[in-house]
Formats: sequence, structure tokens, C-alpha cells
Amino acid sequence: MNYQASHTRYQQMEYRRCGHSGLKLPAVSLGLWHNFGDSTLIDNSRQLLRRAFDLGITHFDLANNYGPPPGSAERNFGQLLKADFAPWRDELIISSKAGYTMWEGPYGDWGSRKYLVSSLNQSLKRMGLEYVDIFYHHRPDPETPLEETMGALDHLVRQGKALYVGLSNYPPELARQAFAILRDLGTPCLIHQPKYSMFEREPENGLLDTLKQNGVGCIAFSPLAGGLLTDRYLAGIPEDSRAAGASKFLNPEQITPQTLERIRRLNDVAQRRGQKLSQMALAWVLRDELVTSVLIGASKVAQIEDAAGMLAMRQFSNDERAEIEAILNA
Ligand code: NDP
Repeated sequence: MNYQASHTRYQQMEYRRCGHSGLKLPAVSLGLWHNFGDSTLIDNSRQLLRRAFDLGITHFDLANNYGPPPGSAERNFGQLLKADFAPWRDELIISSKAGYTMWEGPYGDWGSRKYLVSSLNQSLKRMGLEYVDIFYHHRPDPETPLEETMGALDHLVRQGKALYVGLSNYPPELARQAFAILRDLGTPCLIHQPKYSMFEREPENGLLDTLKQNGVGCIAFSPLAGGLLTDRYLAGIPEDSRAAGASKFLNPEQITPQTLERIRRLNDVAQRRGQKLSQMALAWVLRDELVTSVLIGASKVAQIEDAAGMLAMRQFSNDERAEIEAILNA
């Protein structure tokens, strides 16, 4: 059936300014790393995108290598975009990235100008787009001069193939150097995409401060630790869960008794607050103005609804903050 976007889609979502830029992002964004490749039913992917947009989630995040196989998430997204979202392109923020292995040979990986320019051209073709809203360098390259990688990002903006640029997985000092180069080139960095959740707090060791000092926004990836920070694993490992599947990023061995105990205690706090653990985990990442958006993944429509529902209960009392801190440090 033809898709008609909900007329109420802008009523619930909160939009937050991305650093010192003119762009606002939804507090919740949807990533297409899982559940959009060729091993997923396209109708499920379609329902996820439709529900997200109807809830005011205007930002979809991709990368050249999302699948499996690599490239298939962008291709499938392109089909759905054409079929459902063509009238709403100007209401969408679509991002892609390059930086991990994408094709054979010396030009399909890392951070050379050759790789970044070729890869974005391929991504645009797969998605059927003239431009992406944000193009990221996906991970630092220890061999390519930073000036070359940042120069390639600036070049792509000047070509009109990306509106803004971002960096992902850059440590604080390298990020600071990259921001300075981009600023000098006249293409200030819009956003940084680090892994950040209750279970992964590395960005608190300097990165968040660096972003603040440089007026760069922050979108936190895997804010639910791939599903650990939800009620998904409280009663065992469901067959249809990420941990039971082929993902090498979340496996049953990671769900130790100690981790489960922590999840249970956090779940108790969430229940006392009158929300789900997944909702509390997202609200916690957004507790600080420094984080512009939480970048979730979803295999089911209800998970997107949970995430959007988090906005109704965003505040933490000092006691709750202290209790959560104690659980995380136990
Ligand atoms: P999350 O931490 O949000 O994990 C998402 C998974 O958690 C879902 O697929 C689902 O797993 C489970 N889940 C979500 N909501 C609920 C809920 N309400 N109740 C129960 N379970 C739930 O994020 P991801 O790890 O998926 O990453 C999100 C995005 O971040 C990616 O799509 C990508 O865009 C980006 N990313 C970027 C990286 C980078 O290097 N820049 C690296 C990794 C991700 P299940 O399948 O079990 O249902």
C-alpha cells in the first residue's frame, strides 16, 4: 500500500541543535547497520522506516559496508526511499560513511582521497541520491595524512555530494586536530559519532569535552549496547535476538552472570521510574546537552516505539543518578 506520512509526526519528537551548526537532529535517530541487508525481509525494513518517520525520526544513518553483504543496506534503503519517501526527501537527514573495508585492493579501505571520493559516489548510486546530508570518515587511518582525509571530505561538500561532514571513532586529540583542519578549509565538522552507553563510557574521558569546546555535535551509537541495556536478555537468549544470531559484536559469552545482575538492577530502577530499561538507558545518554541524538538499531517496530516513548520521562533525580552510578561501578 502507498505510504502516507502521519500528519502528527512532528508533535512528539524533540529536535536538538547539532553543536554550533544550523542543523537540528531528532533526539532519537535510526541506524541501518542491522536489519536492512539482504538477509532481512524487506517488508520488515519498510515497516521500521515508516514507523520511525511517523514518530518524527527524521534521521537515518547508513554506511557503505552495512548489510550483509556490504552495500546491501544502502541498496535496499534506496529502493524503500524511492517507493515510500520520495516526497519527503527534504524532511530527511540521510548519512553514510566510508572508512572500513569495502572492496578489494588498496583503494577500498581506510582514509585516502581516492577511497572516500569513490566510495561516496558508489553510495549515492546505491541509494539513488544526488547527495547525502552527512558524510563521515568512519574510523581514523593511521597512515594517511589527516590533511588528505579532511581535504577529501571538504572536496565532497564543495562538489555538492554531501551537505555536512562528520567523524566517527576518532579519539579526542586526533578529533581536535581534524576539526582545526576542517575549520581552516571552510567546512566545519558537524558531528562526531562515538560508541556511548551506560556500558561504554569512554567518551567521558575527554571526547565530550573536546566536542563541546569545538562546537561539534555528538550522536551516540549503540546506546543500548546492542540490546544488552533492555529487557531482551532477562529471561534467557531469545532465538530472534542479536546475541543468538550471527553478529560477531554481541554473543552469548558477553552475557555473563555479572552483566545480567547489573542489567537486572538497572531494570529495577527503570521500573520504579515507570519506564522500560531501554527507555531509561536512552534518557541517560541524553541527560547531558552535549549528546545531540541517540542512534538506535531496531529489529521490530515496537522497539522504535519504545525509544520514542522515552521522551516522556527524560529527567533523573540526584538519587537516581547516584544509584545508577553505583550499579555501573559495582
Ligand atoms: P543499539 O545499542 O540501539 O542496539 C539495537 C538492538 O537492540 C536492536 O537491534 C535490538 O536487537 C535491541 N533493541 C532495541 N530496542 C529494544 C527494545 N526496546 N527492547 C528490546 N531490545 C531492543 O544500537 P546498534 O548497535 O544497533 O547500533 C545502532 C546504529 O549505530 C547502527 O545501526 C549504526 O547506524 C550505528 N553504528 C555505528 C558504528 C560506527 O562505527 N560508527 C558502529 C556500530 C553502529 P534485537 O536484534 O535483539 O532485537
